[in-house]
Amino acid sequence: MLAPPLQRLVTELSKLPGIGHRTAQRLAFHVLRTSDLDARALAQAIIDVKEKITLCEICFNLAEGPRCTICLDERRDLRTLCVVEEPQDVIPIERTHEFRGRYHVLGGALSPIDGVEPEDLRLAQLYRRLDGITEVVLATNPTTTGEATALHVAAALHERSPDVTVTRLASG
Ligand code: ZN
Repeated sequence: MLAPPLQRLVTELSKLPGIGHRTAQRLAFHVLRTSDLDARALAQAIIDVKEKITLCEICFNLAEGPRCTICLDERRDLRTLCVVEEPQDVIPIERTHEFRGRYHVLGGALSPIDGVEPEDLRLAQLYRRLDGITEVVLATNPTTTGEATALHVAAALHERSPDVTVTRLASG
C-alpha cells in the first residue's frame, strides 16, 4: 500500500530491536516529513558508525581509529585494569568518575550452554596486559554467566600473577 521507497524504510526500521511494524511505520512517516538536512544527518550517522567505529587495539573498547579515547588519555592510571563484558559496559563505570584506570573488554561472558568457552573471549589478550598492573577490577555483569566469568578470570589471574590484587565490582 505504501510507495516502494517508504515501504523499504519501514522494512529496514522494523528490523531494529524493540521496533514493531506500527512504530516502524510511524518513524518512516516522521522521516518523510522531516527536513532534508535532518534526514541526511540520520543516514550519514548510520553510515559513519559502520565505517568509522573500530575496536581499540589495546582494550577492545569502541574507537575511532586504532586506539580508544581512554587508552589515549595519558592521565589514566596504567596500573589498574577494569574487565567488562561489552563496550557498552564501559559507559556506566565512566559515568561514576570513580575508576581512573584502563579497561579490558572481553567480548562476552562464559556460557558453556551457549558454547562460549574461555578461548572465545579476549582472555589471552588480558593476560598479555598484566605487565605493570597492580590491580584488576572484575566488572562483569551480575548474571550467572557474568559471575562465572569473574570467577574464571580471578582464578586465572591468581595463577599467573599472584601479586595482582583482584576485586569484584558490584554493578547492576
Ligand atoms: Zn582502548
